[in-house]
Amino acid sequence: MRNAADHTLPQTVKSSKPKLRPKIGAHCKGGLKGAVEQALAIGAQSMQIFIGSPQTWRSPTPAIDELENFKRDVKKHKLGPVFVHGNYLVNLASSSRENLQKSVLNLHTALRLSDMAGAEGLIFHPGSVGQDSFSDGMVRFLAALSVVLKDYNGNCRLLMEVCAGQGKTIGDKFSDLSSILEDMNFDERLGVCWDTCHLFNAGYDVSTEAGLEKTIDEFEKLIGFKWLAAVHANDSKTPFASRKDRHENIGCGYIGEEAFARMLHQKELRHLPWILEVPGFEDKGPDKENIQILHRLAS
Ligand SMILES: [Zn+2]
Ligand SMILES: [Zn+2]
Repeated sequence: MRNAADHTLPQTVKSSKPKLRPKIGAHCKGGLKGAVEQALAIGAQSMQIFIGSPQTWRSPTPAIDELENFKRDVKKHKLGPVFVHGNYLVNLASSSRENLQKSVLNLHTALRLSDMAGAEGLIFHPGSVGQDSFSDGMVRFLAALSVVLKDYNGNCRLLMEVCAGQGKTIGDKFSDLSSILEDMNFDERLGVCWDTCHLFNAGYDVSTEAGLEKTIDEFEKLIGFKWLAAVHANDSKTPFASRKDRHENIGCGYIGEEAFARMLHQKELRHLPWILEVPGFEDKGPDKENIQILHRLAS
């Protein structure tokens, strides 16, 4: 008869198992041309960039060279995974016909460019239904999303970011995102991105042990962690459930260091890319210091 010890690996084998570490990184300024340099300067591994201006409707038109050079430099410096953040004006639930058309065109183009840049995901804010009813907004959103994805077969996924719930937004509840995935027949070109500040402000209390456990359980039950591709790591300037979206440096806000340490050790989250979108200690955006704080809390 074999005993339990037969199934136990020798200590040396156990400790040589690679430890899954979070890929800590940041939103890096400079777009396709400057983001790699910025990532190296602050010690970011995973990165998020903008392609083109995130606040205007002007369509980005990067040259093929620019996309190729970016991809080459990311590989050369062993950076990544890379994500692109979509335009802030995009609203796939907009009740304005003009806005809806512009949103679809913008996201359609951005997804293909992100794929050419070698990004793993294009992260976007699902949108807001405005004065309209939620169900009407959702119908528009689903129709628009189908057009964005039409005939697309790239590797870059379109990731819906959970939002803080300012106004009548889609995506401040896991149930919104699960019903979208269900209506889209669990299309694997889609995925989800968390933002710790948005979750906290939308009413998912990731700052406490019990709150995190509840958040993890609810996400697993309604969506499933295979759909979660990245986490935006941001502390919050505003208190729990305030439905605002004001990012703070890690440890300086209402979420706090202890909560980040807990999240970075959570098995469902630990291996993911953690991307800072914080103001930075010198107000110049994500910096080395915030990256080092996350590394310390993850160790
Ligand atoms: Zn965002
Ligand atoms: Zn975010």
